[in-house]
Amino acid sequence: MRIVFLGPPGSGKGTQARLLAERLAVPAISTGEMLREAVREGRSLGLKVKSIMECGDLVPDDLMIELIGERLGRPDAGKGFILDGFPRTVEQAAALERMLSGNGNRLLTVVNLQVPEPVILDRLHGRSAQEHRADDRPGAIAERLRVYHERTEPLIGYYRGRRLLADVDGMGDVDEIGTRIGRVIERADRARGAA
Ligand code: ADP
Repeated sequence: MRIVFLGPPGSGKGTQARLLAERLAVPAISTGEMLREAVREGRSLGLKVKSIMECGDLVPDDLMIELIGERLGRPDAGKGFILDGFPRTVEQAAALERMLSGNGNRLLTVVNLQVPEPVILDRLHGRSAQEHRADDRPGAIAERLRVYHERTEPLIGYYRGRRLLADVDGMGDVDEIGTRIGRVIERADRARGAA
């Protein structure tokens, strides 16, 4: 069970990744959470990324690739994982492909959570009032969306071309979306079984 969640900020990736991880009993690996933890703990990685994250920009690929390489090498990721927030660039996707090559690149399913942009904007501005995340300020929200379109959206074509992509409607309540995700993952597994 190797699943990647793709989608704009505010699409609900984090929530769905956590729920699915519980159901499948594999770790949910959120790079955003890992970075925020490094910042909170004042680790050297945290010092490097703090201001980048606050502006809504992307942390350099080499740092992210090292971070995720280390994380996927831990024993709990051996039987599968759910990635939330990685890969975010084509370079990161190529690095993930190299990391998994030999042991199951084929087993990857990429869930593309689709939510219309006006809804995304509403959610992000709403969340900023509740969570006080430094990157939920209006300027940073706009930058995160710009960066998403420019750097992350190309991954949709990248994974579609590799026949690993599963589109999921990200509108509706949390359980309903979770059910849809469960369905596309089963379908992907069956298709692989038949291949
Ligand atoms: P969201 O998807 O809601 O914008 P995340 O929690 O996934 O938020 O990420 C927060 C921030 O962490 C990003 O805006 C970026 O600065 C940094 N980040 C997380 N994952 C990556 C990644 N794979 N590559 C580069 N930067 C990342």
